[in-house]
Amino acid sequence: MIQDTAIGQKTYLSIDKLWKAFGTFLALKDVSLDVKEGEFVCFLGPSGCGKTTLLRAIAGLDLQTKGTVMQDGKDVSNLPPSERDFGIVFQSYALFPNLTIKKNIAFGLENTGRSKSEIAVRVSELLELVGLPEQGTKYPAQLSGGQQQRIALARAIATNPGLLLLDEPLSALDAKVRVHLRHEIKELQRKLGVTTVMVTHDQEEALAMADRIVVMNHGVIEQVGSPTEIYREPANLFVADFIGEMNQVESMVAKGGRLSVGEKTFACHEHSFKDGTVVVAAIRPEDIIPHEDGYSAEDPNRNCIDVLLHEMEFLGSFWRCRLRNDRFGQSELIADFSINAVRRLGLGEGRKMVIELPTDRLMAFDRPEAS
Ligand code: ATP
Repeated sequence: MIQDTAIGQKTYLSIDKLWKAFGTFLALKDVSLDVKEGEFVCFLGPSGCGKTTLLRAIAGLDLQTKGTVMQDGKDVSNLPPSERDFGIVFQSYALFPNLTIKKNIAFGLENTGRSKSEIAVRVSELLELVGLPEQGTKYPAQLSGGQQQRIALARAIATNPGLLLLDEPLSALDAKVRVHLRHEIKELQRKLGVTTVMVTHDQEEALAMADRIVVMNHGVIEQVGSPTEIYREPANLFVADFIGEMNQVESMVAKGGRLSVGEKTFACHEHSFKDGTVVVAAIRPEDIIPHEDGYSAEDPNRNCIDVLLHEMEFLGSFWRCRLRNDRFGQSELIADFSINAVRRLGLGEGRKMVIELPTDRLMAFDRPEAS
C-alpha cells in the first residue's frame, strides 16, 4: 500500500495568468494554478487542449506569451530550462542509445561538481531505487519499454530536482506495464516527496496517480480537484462527460429545483439554476440502483422509474445494462449493476424492472451550448 506522505502547505509552483499564443492561435488562455510542495498534479484533457504547452512553459522549453511562473518562491518565467530546477521524462524514452544505462543515468550528474566515485554511488542508488540494479551495463535497446522508462525516471531524479515533470511517460507502453509502472512512479514520488506534474490524456491514469487533477479544455482550466471531487462532483458537463461514463438527458428545472424529464419530475443534487431553465440532467451508470420485483415506481420520496432491461453486457467485475423507457425522454440509460445485484434480483435481458436515480447523484448541468 502506498503511504500517504504529507503534502506540504507551502506553494511550490505558482502559475499566474499564463497565456501562450502560436501565431493567432491561443493554446493557453489565462491559466492560473498553484501546486503545493510534494503534490502530484496531473494535467488531463483531450488532445490539443494545451497540457503539453503548459508543461513546456513550466520547464521553460517554450516561453509563455504573457504571465508568470514562480518556482519555490522565485520568478523563473524568463529563465532558460538549464537555469530551472526540474527533471523531465518524455513519452519517448529519450535515452542515448549509444551509452550504457549507467552512463545514461550519470549524464545529468556530470558537471555538477560530483567526483567520479560519488557519481558511481548515486547511479547504483538510482538503479536500486527504480528496481533495476543488474541492468547498468546494458544498452537501452536491450531493455523493455517499461525498463527504459524506469531508467528515464532515474535520470530525471538523479540530481534531486525540486520538480519532476512527466510528459505522458506511460503512453508508449502496453496496458499491463503501464498499470504496473504507474503504481511504481506514484510510490517513488511519495517516497521522494518531489513535487510532480504529469501530463496525461488517460483519465484512469490521472484518477489513479494524482493528488489533484487539472482538467483542461481548449486552453483553459475547467476544474481543479482531487480525483474523487473531479469524478463525483464535476464542475460542468465537459468534466462530467470527459471522465467516466455519464447518462445525459435534456431536462427543464421545475418548481422546487426538481428536474422535469418526460412526464416525471425528479429531486436532484443541489444546484443554482432558476425554474424554467433547460439543463442537462446527468447520472453515472454505477449510481443507478436496481430494485426488486414488485417495487413501486410511484414512491413520491424516491426517483424511481419503470424500465425495460434491454441488453446486458458482462464486463468482468460488473454488468453494463441498457435500460429503456420511452417516457423518460431518451431511448436508453446505461446502468452498471454489480454481479451480486444481478444474481440477487435474477436480472436478465427482456425483464421489466424499477430503477432508482438517487437524489444526491442526479446532477444538473448547463447545456454545452449555454456554457
Ligand atoms: P496532446 O495530448 O495531443 O499532446 P495537448 O493537450 O498536450 O495535446 P498541446 O500540445 O499543448 O496539446 O497543444 C495545444 C494546441 O497548441 C494544439 O492545438 C496544438 O496544435 C497547438 N500547438 C502546439 N505547439 C504548437 C506550435 N509549436 N506551433 C503551433 N501550434 C502549436
